[in-house]
Amino acid sequence: MSTAFYSHPDCRLHDMGAGHPECPARLDAISDHLLATGLDIALDFKDAPQATIEQIERAHTAHYVTEIADVLERLKAEGVMRALDPDTIAGPHTLAAALRAAGAAVAATDDVLAGRAKTAFCAVRPPGHHATRDEAMGFCFFNNVAIAARHALDVHGLARVAIIDFDVHHGNGTEDVIAGDERVLMCSFFQHPLYPYSGAVPKGTNMVNVPIAPYTRGPAVRETIESMWLPALDRFKPEMIFISAGFDAHREDDLGQMGLVEADYEWITKRLIDVAHRHAKGRIVSCLEGGYNLSALARSVAAHVRVLADMA
Ligand SMILES: [Zn+2]
Repeated sequence: MSTAFYSHPDCRLHDMGAGHPECPARLDAISDHLLATGLDIALDFKDAPQATIEQIERAHTAHYVTEIADVLERLKAEGVMRALDPDTIAGPHTLAAALRAAGAAVAATDDVLAGRAKTAFCAVRPPGHHATRDEAMGFCFFNNVAIAARHALDVHGLARVAIIDFDVHHGNGTEDVIAGDERVLMCSFFQHPLYPYSGAVPKGTNMVNVPIAPYTRGPAVRETIESMWLPALDRFKPEMIFISAGFDAHREDDLGQMGLVEADYEWITKRLIDVAHRHAKGRIVSCLEGGYNLSALARSVAAHVRVLADMA
């Protein structure tokens, strides 16, 4: 059984304008590097389907889904762009990309739970972890990981799933969706203070939030994971693990000031694989979130995927 790699050409068409860090070239950098390193032979490449409204509404309010779909449909029809906040710009291709991004996470979940793949990585954009139940923000429209986690719980009937978020920014949207849902344990670290300036006070008892000071490097982050995440995960015994895989805590990434390197992403992924083997039959679905230095992003994704594919 191999590792599924989900993406879709529509995810590349979503474009927030020249100079925006969350750019189509991110996906090109990732796929180019997978080919250059020969890692592609270990992966089962799949085209993401579009998520359905019913799937998206497991994480977002019906009012929000109707409203944002209406806005995005109009931009598509008129061929124009519109800023939903200063950082989050929608255009003619945003709806298709956002539906594919969420659809990738859902399809990857189906694959892993059906035994068609042992793990999966979704190389998708727009990212999702800042999208709250009823608001698009921080480059995010639909919360891909929260939608997939709810799909595993509500459709496949799992009792407990974990969401791990190692993006440099706090996954406020995911926290907003799943705080108080005791079927989910969310473990995250994030640079603090940094956008979106939340997370220091968790919104629910099912959150393990670890704010981290700027300029913190790998060894301290690993220690934090060993003392804060791993014991909580072993107590919770998740039946499946979802990862909000942002790579902007890399020391070469300008959107944060943390000091992780590829070896740290490899180490984190190995620890999560260990947890998955102890409790979750090895089942992991990982979705791309941030990561804006193209070279560091590509190298870090490769380090992460190599472990998911059991090649490290
Ligand atoms: Zn981020």
